Amino acid sequence: MRNHLTHPIFSLISEVADEMQRPCFVIGGFVRDIILHRPSKDIDVVTLGSGIELAEALCRRLGSHAHLAVFRNFGTAQVKYHDGKEWIEVEFVGARRESYSHNSRKPIVEDGTLQDDQNRRDFTINALALCLNGERFGELVDPFDGIGDIERELIRTPLDPDITFSDDPLRMMRAIRFATQLNFRIYPDTFDAIKRNSERIKIISRERIADELGKIIRADIPSRGFILLEESGLLPYICPELAALKGVETKDGHGHKDNFYHTLTVLDNVALRSRNEWLRWAALFHDIAKPRTKRYDVRLGWTFHNHNFIGAKMIPGIFRFMKLPLDERMKYVQKLVELHMRPIVLAEEVVTDSAVRRLLFDAGDDIDDLMCLCEADITSRNAEKVRRYLENFALVRRKLTEIEEKDRIRNFQPPVDGSEIMEYFALPPSREVGELKSAIKNAILDGIIPNERDAAWQYMLKAAEQMGIKKP
Ligand code: ATP
Ligand code: MG
Repeated sequence: MRNHLTHPIFSLISEVADEMQRPCFVIGGFVRDIILHRPSKDIDVVTLGSGIELAEALCRRLGSHAHLAVFRNFGTAQVKYHDGKEWIEVEFVGARRESYSHNSRKPIVEDGTLQDDQNRRDFTINALALCLNGERFGELVDPFDGIGDIERELIRTPLDPDITFSDDPLRMMRAIRFATQLNFRIYPDTFDAIKRNSERIKIISRERIADELGKIIRADIPSRGFILLEESGLLPYICPELAALKGVETKDGHGHKDNFYHTLTVLDNVALRSRNEWLRWAALFHDIAKPRTKRYDVRLGWTFHNHNFIGAKMIPGIFRFMKLPLDERMKYVQKLVELHMRPIVLAEEVVTDSAVRRLLFDAGDDIDDLMCLCEADITSRNAEKVRRYLENFALVRRKLTEIEEKDRIRNFQPPVDGSEIMEYFALPPSREVGELKSAIKNAILDGIIPNERDAAWQYMLKAAEQMGIKKP
């Protein structure tokens, strides 16, 4: 494995460690990612004894090109080093043994051997170590056949999975996250232990869970993670609203589609087309209000009236609970959830210019993302239906481009603003001013006047006359 340790930093660490007569290993994710040919930035080094001392010695050797940060409470130190091209980060820690109490994922830590340190790792593929010392430079230490598990594409705990997961329940999320990112399976024994311990996830902070969910949703096929979260029993603790989407009810022999699996298909469809994480969250939540709005009607069958509006209203509560950001990213998700039915309705009818203008006005710069979501939302198994919808969407898209070029509605700025109206008629801020402004906006959106200053001014004067507003 020495050919993977060609970066000069490794021979430097090796020299320093040999001089101090310290056994020293690269360990964990960095080694795993070398073997998987994945890019990996953070290098973890474990040594017997104090990791801080080793880091300090390395830093002295590197001189002015390096920065040292020491975290005494954790017994770790980080060396940042610029090799002329980029910054490299190496984290140093002493090998340790961990023991856990029942109600915390914070272990009691003692000094230990390399084997102790590998035992405390979450998965066999994350317990690989490469020796950095003298003769043994590049030698692989793999006590749990992590290499075999990489070949078999398996996520498996090194020790009894019930203990591993009960000690630190975050590892259940990590198992599912790695399975999703790497496209690996979870070893059946390991997965059964997640099912048995799922309730333990309650002791994990929502921030950490959100961090893992972010990694799942950014993966190439994010549905894999959500299916595993559902099958393991973790999903109701993480996002009960999402868990509630699962299942099919039947009345008079009519079933509706399973909204959980439909949602995941939409999510994967979006993921194929876009790396935008927040568009993916919007896909995940686009039908979130379906369980709440579900009704059965003898004439209409299953309906989910207003599920888009109610869904948008549910988003802040869900984001707060899940510790997702409450800023403009949430507003974006809300907007897409609220608008996700609009292009479909448009595509079902004759596509009028004014409907297209209103859609452009409401979606603004997010119109392309909204169209992407709507196209992803066509998951019917009826090929003819899919073809018809996609054709209509193509027409909506053509119209969107056409009208945007002509009328520039996307970032609509009224061509006549309120202060001009107030000045001209010597009016204070008032209902009349608001009404004149919205009359102009509606006339433009309805195509009565073009989005231009002169036309808008003339139209405003006429509207004012009709409302009985006079220039003093
Ligand atoms: P990534 O960097 O993609 O998140 P990683 O495996 O490198 O994946 P890190 O959080 O960087 O994850 O952790 C580095 C190593 O520390 C892991 O490979 C693993 O050996 C160990 N580790 C991290 N978190 C845990 C945990 N909760 N339980 C046990 N070992 C862990
Ligand atoms: Mg890492």
